[in-house]
Amino acid sequence: MKEPTLNLSPSPGDEVKRTTCYMCACRCGIKVWVKDGKIRYIQGNRDHPVNQGVLCAKGASGIMQHYSPARLRKPLLRVGERGAGEFREIEWDEALDIATSWLAPIRERNPDELAFFTGRDQSQALTGWWAQQFGTINYAAHGGFCSVNMAAGGLYTLGGSFWEFGEPDWEHTRYLMLWGVAEDHDSNPIKLGLGKLKARGAKVIAVNPVRSGYGAIADEWIGIRPGTDGLFAFALIHELLKADRIDLDYLVRYANAHWLVIDNPGGADDGLFARDADGNALCWSFSSPLREAQGGGREGVDSTTGRSDPSPALPFASGEREGAFARADAIGISPAVVGEYVLPDGRKARPVFQLVADRYLDPQYAPDAVSERCGIPADTIRRIARELAAAAFDSKFSLPIAWTDSWGREHSEMVGRPVAMHAMRGISAHSNGFHACRALHLLQLLLGAIDAPGSFRYQPPYPKPIPPANRPAKARKADGTLDAGPLGFVHGPEDLVVDANGQPRRIDHAYSWAYPLSAHGMMHTVIRNAHAGDPYRIDTLFMFMANMSWNSAMNTRQTMHWLTDKDDNGDYRIPRIIYSDAYASEMVAYADLVLPDTTYLERFDAISLLDRPISDADAASDAIRHPVFDPATQLDEDGKPRDVRGFQSVLIELGARLGLPGLVNEDGSPKYRDYADYIVRHERAPGVGLLAGWRGTDGQSEGKGAPNPDQLQRYIEHGGFWHAPIPESARYYKMANRDYLQWAQRFGFVPNDAPIVMQLYTETLQKFRLAAQGHGEHQPPEEHRERVATYFDPLPIWYEPFEHDQTSRETFPLNAVTQRPMFMYHAWGSQNAWLRQITARNYLYLHPETGAQYGISDEDWIEVASHHGAITVQAKFAGNVQPGTVWTWNAIGKRRGAWRLAKDAPEGEQGFLLNHLISDVTPKGDYANADPVTGQAAWFDLRVSIRTLRDGVGESVPQFAPLDFPEANERPLRYGAGFRKDANCKVHAK
Ligand code: SF4
Repeated sequence: MKEPTLNLSPSPGDEVKRTTCYMCACRCGIKVWVKDGKIRYIQGNRDHPVNQGVLCAKGASGIMQHYSPARLRKPLLRVGERGAGEFREIEWDEALDIATSWLAPIRERNPDELAFFTGRDQSQALTGWWAQQFGTINYAAHGGFCSVNMAAGGLYTLGGSFWEFGEPDWEHTRYLMLWGVAEDHDSNPIKLGLGKLKARGAKVIAVNPVRSGYGAIADEWIGIRPGTDGLFAFALIHELLKADRIDLDYLVRYANAHWLVIDNPGGADDGLFARDADGNALCWSFSSPLREAQGGGREGVDSTTGRSDPSPALPFASGEREGAFARADAIGISPAVVGEYVLPDGRKARPVFQLVADRYLDPQYAPDAVSERCGIPADTIRRIARELAAAAFDSKFSLPIAWTDSWGREHSEMVGRPVAMHAMRGISAHSNGFHACRALHLLQLLLGAIDAPGSFRYQPPYPKPIPPANRPAKARKADGTLDAGPLGFVHGPEDLVVDANGQPRRIDHAYSWAYPLSAHGMMHTVIRNAHAGDPYRIDTLFMFMANMSWNSAMNTRQTMHWLTDKDDNGDYRIPRIIYSDAYASEMVAYADLVLPDTTYLERFDAISLLDRPISDADAASDAIRHPVFDPATQLDEDGKPRDVRGFQSVLIELGARLGLPGLVNEDGSPKYRDYADYIVRHERAPGVGLLAGWRGTDGQSEGKGAPNPDQLQRYIEHGGFWHAPIPESARYYKMANRDYLQWAQRFGFVPNDAPIVMQLYTETLQKFRLAAQGHGEHQPPEEHRERVATYFDPLPIWYEPFEHDQTSRETFPLNAVTQRPMFMYHAWGSQNAWLRQITARNYLYLHPETGAQYGISDEDWIEVASHHGAITVQAKFAGNVQPGTVWTWNAIGKRRGAWRLAKDAPEGEQGFLLNHLISDVTPKGDYANADPVTGQAAWFDLRVSIRTLRDGVGESVPQFAPLDFPEANERPLRYGAGFRKDANCKVHAK
């Protein structure tokens, strides 16, 4: 008898393809093992810079995403009433003919009659450019209802931001504060980083009303009241100022702490920076430095601030010590950061830091004053302020890395500030979110904790000049294209996209006086405005991958009404809706024409530095997806062939059919074969394309270079990504590190190697406030003046979220928020057969004390009411929430029949959306339920009341008519049985 022969290393498949995950926004590298033409296994790619081999439950469940029964099969043309989900399948030629016949007259007549809005597609470098070629200003992606407060707060302050554009220094930080961080973005890097911190014994604090995900492993949980993060940050700032625990040298080297601000109440120049004749900002420089500089732009700083006095007197006037006005960017000066100075023309001016000290030393920001509102004990606030300062200043930590600053001076080491912060949607999705994000950045700056070793770090292509140079398009050229991309950054009132009367020109009202800095557009207002014809009627609403009739909408019921409402002639008020999605989401039912997208394993994608790159703080990176399968070979769950196309390729073909300038050759023939061809050959500027790796005809160039026909092949050979490490001397202080800025300039990330000066005080905001006060050529209409004057404060402010006014707080005593589950990514993940087994329904979670207060028992059915309406849901007790807040998981509740789930699926019967309670306008109805500066949707401002219903309820309310998609069978749940039959692990015995 022979010993059995065991194959101890069976190959998981016939071949393996290395590409990029798309089960959430993190974009990890994956290896997809294929056997017999099917996915055998998805594995993390150890070589990939994002995840280094780590794969999460979502990533592994990509198999079920690829084989989802909800996949669309063919283009669909509506045959029933809009919203009923009745379609007939058509061929692609007919679909594209129809789309072209709708869009061509619009472009001829008025391109703005096309509203083109996309969701979480990660291809805005293409879609925004396509909108520019079409000539419509009515374009945006989903950032307006996701993250624009964070992006704008960061980009107008630091030239970079949290989210996926910066990261804590995982290797060196000793104290990390996570503010409102959800688990669905940058997921694996954060998990890997937290592991490093825990191993090193660094302290992690989670600031979040709900202790889930990362909060569960934090050393300390601060169960803050929603919407008070800015106030908490101010109390920390107050304590740091009081204790003189501020890095003033850092502030004058890298920020505008010493820039002089004109003090001329009522004047057109009030609050602007004092500048010389050439426009350079000025400071007051003493003739002898008070403190030795440790290197950097300025030699020393006058640090006499009186900071131990809660109401400091102004210690110096210009006449009391010798000095002179100097350019604020000069070296060899000793700038004052406090005092009052008289400019040669007699105007008074004060340094920015004096204004900071004046404001945040005010007793209204003392821990005792904010404690109750924030829900944080005053002693805790004081202790955290002490801990922050101790971690930042008491360790004398530095890295022995020589570097050269922007002024050419050499330093033998990089001084560390091992305090890091990371923040996300919990901070930003409030009507005071922009200023809350600014408050966090101010706190970081005072600690000297931006891009220093141990602190928050920029990821290339950031930092960018402040504000970024690109402004939103306002005009069309002779060929019908826009003069710029539809989205950009306003530098002052003159950049708003408004008409001669100051009224909005965009359908979403972005860049209007109501939401001036709406740098990501306002997708959440489009359907209401398109229905109302405000400011005008559109012809076609074209959307991609955005579930706007369900979990991506506020005011869901009325949104469905707006999508289906007809005028007196019986015509739909939104005449045409084209929608592209890979799956039978709730939104599909509201389209007239459906363009079926592929799964993420069936197409090319560019994860581009022009869009949302995958860089880390030590390297620039980008990546691709490439087809693991030809969609024509991937049958639907009934064994029928699918005829689907990648949306990006469809967009390129549509553009060619429409003859859009950038998409056709001179003879009118299509310029690009498909998206893959566009990725390789399109140049945004000479030598700049979607991908930065292997450029140049020989593939030897990085960043810039001529198109390389073999570029995609090189990416595929290299695991699907490109990775360019930053030189060691350039890895910190990127905003003023000569090596970094020159490196970044070579790659086209910055226009030149000038230092980027971080802005504690934002002059752009003051320009708007001056306009509201009656100055300048561009002024707000009367109805917006007070709002602009109030919220465009050049220093961060805190105010009650709009839904938290006194009346609302009395009538609706609880905050209600959603959390993003670590195991699902929006509606996409919650239809996934494997992920549904983790949770197929949600509850409203509340603290047992809250239950006792309102007479609610665990698992009671309850009514939850807001100023907007009421829903019925099942409650569940949870100790991981502070008692004043209730919460639930996001996007698990589904409309019956959608996503081809069974009509009695728990997601539809017991699951629910908090969205049904969230209005798209403020309680007063005067503005969108959004931040007044950026227009970001204020999802987390919701206030509710609760009462028990106890018996007789078995399903959530509201329920809507089931969508008419056929139910799927359960076959995918048994996925993989076929592989076992001829498993490679054979036992030979005789
Ligand atoms: S974290 Fe996101 S991108 Fe990474 S493996 Fe998980 S689902 Fe995929």
